[in-house]
Amino acid sequence: MLELHGIPVSPGVAIGPALVLNREGYRIPHFQIAPEGVDEEISRLRVAVDEVSRALEASRLETAAIAGDSTGEIFAAQLQMLHDPRLHAELQRRIRQGGQSAAYAVSQVLHRYASDLRRLDNSLLAQRADDVVDIEQQLLHHLGVVTRRPLTELTDPVIVLTHNLTPSETANLDRRYVRGFCTEIGGPGGHMAIVAKGLELPAVVGIGEFLESVGGATTVIVDGDRGIVILDPDNDTLQRYEEGRQRRQHLALRLAELRDLPATTVDDVALSLNANIEFPHEVGACLEHGAGGIGLYRTEFLYLSSDEEPSEQDHYLAYREVVEAMQGRPVVIRTLDLGADKMGSRPLTEPEPNPFLGLRSIRLSLKHPELFRPQLRALLRAAVHGDVRVMFPLITTLSELRQAKMLINTIAEDLAEQGIAHRRDIPIGMMVEVPAAVLMLDRFVKEVDFLSIGTNDLVQYTLAVDRSNECVADLYQSSDPAVLRLIARCVEVAGQAGVPLSICGEMGSNPARSLLLVGMGVRSMSLPPNALPKVKKAIRSVSLQQCEKIAARAMTLEAARDIDLYLLERLGKFVPELIVS
Ligand code: PEP
Ligand code: MG
Repeated sequence: MLELHGIPVSPGVAIGPALVLNREGYRIPHFQIAPEGVDEEISRLRVAVDEVSRALEASRLETAAIAGDSTGEIFAAQLQMLHDPRLHAELQRRIRQGGQSAAYAVSQVLHRYASDLRRLDNSLLAQRADDVVDIEQQLLHHLGVVTRRPLTELTDPVIVLTHNLTPSETANLDRRYVRGFCTEIGGPGGHMAIVAKGLELPAVVGIGEFLESVGGATTVIVDGDRGIVILDPDNDTLQRYEEGRQRRQHLALRLAELRDLPATTVDDVALSLNANIEFPHEVGACLEHGAGGIGLYRTEFLYLSSDEEPSEQDHYLAYREVVEAMQGRPVVIRTLDLGADKMGSRPLTEPEPNPFLGLRSIRLSLKHPELFRPQLRALLRAAVHGDVRVMFPLITTLSELRQAKMLINTIAEDLAEQGIAHRRDIPIGMMVEVPAAVLMLDRFVKEVDFLSIGTNDLVQYTLAVDRSNECVADLYQSSDPAVLRLIARCVEVAGQAGVPLSICGEMGSNPARSLLLVGMGVRSMSLPPNALPKVKKAIRSVSLQQCEKIAARAMTLEAARDIDLYLLERLGKFVPELIVS
């Protein structure tokens, strides 16, 4: 049994067999070969090398016949690599002396060759690295290893263990079989984490290097509540987790009873609790968990889940599906927030040294009207089907907001001229995600219909902490006093101007922090759907006065850790049922 620690990013516990993916996304079978099996393993390797050699030779001849000798030479270079005596010496040594399987040895050695070539920072040699990976995949294929992305071909439940997942890879995990995942890198506020919550997949990220220590048939426990991953658990541990699972199920059943009750404090102060979604299909979970509306629809996932660029009609159909399913409840559609860690298969920007400070979000949309216009047209068209509101992300300057609003006006005029049904007077809001927007909020409130604080980015930009970086995860704290002061300022300015304010960052999904937010004057929150029942339970268990006392005390504390400990203690006092583990 091996216990590993990482960052808990998506709650719940999952237990199942490990599916280990290396950086290229395929399995590394890592099991010890018994001494008597070594000769057989070496002959399996020889057969695989012969097969790949024959295939490469055939490709060389075919290509030379069609495209000339020099093009055919590409394969000659691969053949030379394949027959490199040093490569074979190392593979044999690993199998004979290290007891490694042929597939594992191939994967390890060729992976290292490719990484060494890439590190040389020479574009010609980087291309050779791709040749090495190609040989590796072909050899693995002949050694009986699945070399295409197996995530799309699963047939049994698994826990995915991998170096990293992009937000789109996470979004495309097959929910029928993937029970949870663990990654070596990644931080608490990254979009991989957010998508995991949306999919209700327990996840632990930022564990550091551990894939090498996972054997072929390891059972894994992912404890997404506490950030623990257990490899090959013993029976006592398995039983303990099974009991925990039953307690959690019990709690979920009791919380489900609150679904149709309002989110009001014991002294009848009403809160609006809405849900965050990335995909139309999540609407079912929102309704099941009692969401009053959609407070944040992250539309960029339409791009991230497909290799094709979505058309205006694709946007329209997706929005219409959400709006109709919500049956008159409000739906806040956030315009594209692409860039930084949300980049599709077709990058829209050149590689940037600091992508989170670069061409992302509204900046990218304004720079690419060919991207932005179809979305806005679709949005105005979908707005005739229900209560749709539009929200711009990462607004930093007044000029950005004005440009975006102007574009909406022009598009409404175009649609009117073309006689296409649309809604012209759609409510327009902005996300407050950068300190500059908070500082200028008294000006912004004059030009928007509503505000929503995106604490995920606000924390990142206030504390200068990359939200996806495990190395600084301990600094990424939404309870930091500096963040709380910015939120307090937003509440004050929005209140004075009479502009509705909501919070749609992950901060509100923590029941203890939600009490603090209510005490600070927040009356509307949008959360991942599965966080709604717990937060509603917390709110229904306290009075406004109790929340205000909590906020007043928390605002006197000087460190995020002290604030969180205090909030947890209060939650334990007022809502002990929620402290499960
Ligand atoms: C936020 O930044 O808080 C937010 C809700 O937007 P995202 O997480 O998609 O950046
Ligand atoms: Mg954001």
